[in-house]
Amino acid sequence: MKIEGTFSGELDIKRCYLPGVTLTDTCKKCGHEVTNDYESEYLSYPKVGTPTEISLYCPTCNFDWRVQVLLNLTLTPA
Ligand SMILES: [Zn+2]
Repeated sequence: MKIEGTFSGELDIKRCYLPGVTLTDTCKKCGHEVTNDYESEYLSYPKVGTPTEISLYCPTCNFDWRVQVLLNLTLTPA
């Protein structure tokens, strides 16, 4: 088997859930920890191989900010 190439581009997925994946960051305003759980939240039309900004929201102080993430997709022999 031979698998070649690197995919980059937009996935045609409106709501991309990633169960098992969480993103935690510290609120830039009040210092509370905020976690996005991608079992219940989703990336919409995620782009693979391109840095993407996502929003985080702190319910404690009503503040939102953006962080950059990179979604990688790899096909490998199993
Ligand atoms: Zn906050």
